Amino acid sequence: MVPYGSHGSEPLVDELFNYIDTHQDEFVQDLKDWIAIPSDSSDPLLRGDLSKMVEITAESLQALGATVNLVDMGEEKLNDGRSIPFPKAILAELGKNSSKATVCIYGHVDVQPAKKEDGWKTDPYNMTEINGNLYGRGATDNKGPVLAWINAVKTYRTLDQEIPVNIKFIIEGVEETGSPGLEDLIKANASFFADVDYIVISDNLWLSRKPALTYGTRGSAYFFVEVEGGTKDLHSGTFGGIIHEAMRDLVYLLANLIDSSGHILIPGICDDVAPLTEEERRLYENIDFDLEEHKNNGGVNTFLYSTKEEILQHLWRYPSLTIHGIEGAFSGPGSKTVIPSKVIGKFSIRQVPDMKSAVVQQQVTKHLEDVFAKLKSPNKLTVSMQIGASPWVADVNDPQYEAARNAITKVFGVPPDMIRDGSTIPLARIFQDLTKKSVMMLPIGGADDGEHSQHEKISRSNYIQGTKLFAIFFLELSKVHEELMAKKQP
Ligand SMILES: [Zn+2]
Repeated sequence: MVPYGSHGSEPLVDELFNYIDTHQDEFVQDLKDWIAIPSDSSDPLLRGDLSKMVEITAESLQALGATVNLVDMGEEKLNDGRSIPFPKAILAELGKNSSKATVCIYGHVDVQPAKKEDGWKTDPYNMTEINGNLYGRGATDNKGPVLAWINAVKTYRTLDQEIPVNIKFIIEGVEETGSPGLEDLIKANASFFADVDYIVISDNLWLSRKPALTYGTRGSAYFFVEVEGGTKDLHSGTFGGIIHEAMRDLVYLLANLIDSSGHILIPGICDDVAPLTEEERRLYENIDFDLEEHKNNGGVNTFLYSTKEEILQHLWRYPSLTIHGIEGAFSGPGSKTVIPSKVIGKFSIRQVPDMKSAVVQQQVTKHLEDVFAKLKSPNKLTVSMQIGASPWVADVNDPQYEAARNAITKVFGVPPDMIRDGSTIPLARIFQDLTKKSVMMLPIGGADDGEHSQHEKISRSNYIQGTKLFAIFFLELSKVHEELMAKKQP
């Protein structure tokens, strides 16, 4: 095997890199073995495989010398009334030296559904390497990254090198079905997190071919706006022209949410949006992001904004409002002349720091009620917020971000792009809120890995370089943590 380029100049770094390069085929085989287990958490019939996957993960951690606790997560109620056990969650720890930093690594070993018939070129559960890419369900989300952490620890162990930090693992088996029970698990195990200094999640992707560090995600406030006219659907030949139609009211309401330039029309909605600082503005300058490629990927002709900076800021740090659909409206083919009696408009706002769901809910409700009042309609209006997920943002100057930047620069030869994610990934926020610890998202997956879709993959290079990154991250983290502790001493 050709070793990947390394940029280490310290003997230990070289030793770690060298071991990882020369054992890469072993690491790739481990990933193949993991992918062979169809640990799809959405399919009750595969619950046995999922539990087996959790056990195998626990055994791998035990083999590293970790103390492993398998936590019962209760039962899942199925639609048919039956109950099946949730897979257990893993809480593991390795090292308890109070002079070292303690890092807690989150990961999940369940996967999205996958069938060959869905259009996979290869068997999703038989990992196949093509042109340097390792194709298989879970390759990048999240088995590859979890194994990369394990490989990193294993490298220290096999080389008989002291691991420079204490490590804890929290691994779950139901992330792809929304992590039910995770919040309770964190709350019930406050002592597990008490001595943790840093929490790292490696469950997202780079933005481009350049490595990245993720410091924020948008939240989501999802609304239903319901207008109810009469008690039944009517015919426009018999009632058209003599009643207040619910659909007309709703279309007017929806049209008053956002204008054609993307400006949200709800008064006060942007009041709490954190101002763009000069330091933050500079983070956008060097980000590798191809606008044309993003247009092509989305089949889009024109964006609302023309520069890379504006586009990324509007994806990451400014709110957006999207109208998704209308329930109860005629939407089939043909020309039906129905007057729907009750229609429900659905829209959501991607929230950003420092917006708060409760405030957004109040602003949205008041605005729709005010607009509706102008219509002087006898119909009934109901506004409800279905989801209120908070945004998350971290301090990019936090010690673990500095450590990760140093580690990335050593492994890849370039500093990372500091990125956010425009979607809503509740994990980071949950950990930050419940543990009050520093949280970082440290991805190793490539931008084109296709998590959740057919042909999911991780490249061999990202998997092996990612293993090196995690190994070096431990070293860098111990260094910045030591400096931090030294500063704190009187
Ligand atoms: Zn994932």
